[in-house]
Amino acid sequence: MDKFKHLREWMVETQIIERGIKDKRVIEVMKKIPRHLFVPEDSIDSAYDDRALPIGYGQTISQPYIVALMTELLELKGDEKVLEIGTGSGYQAAILAELVKEVHTIERIKPLADEAKQRFEKLGIKNIKVYIKDGTEGIPEEAPFDRIIITAATPDIPEPLVAQLKEGGIIVAPVGERYSQYMLKAIKKDSKLERHYLIPVAFVPLIGKYGWKEE
Ligand code: SAM
Repeated sequence: MDKFKHLREWMVETQIIERGIKDKRVIEVMKKIPRHLFVPEDSIDSAYDDRALPIGYGQTISQPYIVALMTELLELKGDEKVLEIGTGSGYQAAILAELVKEVHTIERIKPLADEAKQRFEKLGIKNIKVYIKDGTEGIPEEAPFDRIIITAATPDIPEPLVAQLKEGGIIVAPVGERYSQYMLKAIKKDSKLERHYLIPVAFVPLIGKYGWKEE
């Protein structure tokens, strides 16, 4: 067994299954996607550690458990059209792409978006479309989405994203202060969000029209 496959299985056992992730499809995809190809060369040996890692431009690839948790909270069955805000390394999008029909992912920092695109090409992933823009405005021309995931900290769910979510759809996002938030799972019912706040988390801020201002 190659070194990284071994590390990945260890990561899934100790960080994902032991912490209570139960969705079998999520567990399988976390075993499959090579996280070490989504981190900078000099962090490759830390790729399966239990923490977020810097990816440049002041941004991070999220902790593996948080990626698994957010994915499980989306309750994916396989035929969904998903919107992700915050492509970053592309790891979360690659996980989603294995589990759904199509992924649309938005990143505001062009070099990160370009690197993520190259990774998708190298891995032969064809059902992800990357956009470079302010993700807080969503992608009106592609709406509605079955699921939306925001992987940066937001003061609240941006209004355009609520509008672009299907009735009965799920949105998962870290909501709260700029540097400390709660993971939110919200379900759209009668055009409004039914909110469930879960665990405390700390994400980098969502910068944009309906997010935080650049410092
Ligand atoms: N999902 C990523 C991954 O799997 O590596 C991790 C995302 S990282 C924690 C947050 C990302 O959100 C950063 O790359 C940041 O540049 C991006 N971001 C922040 N504000 C944004 C916005 N308004 N639109 C799009 N991307 C944004």
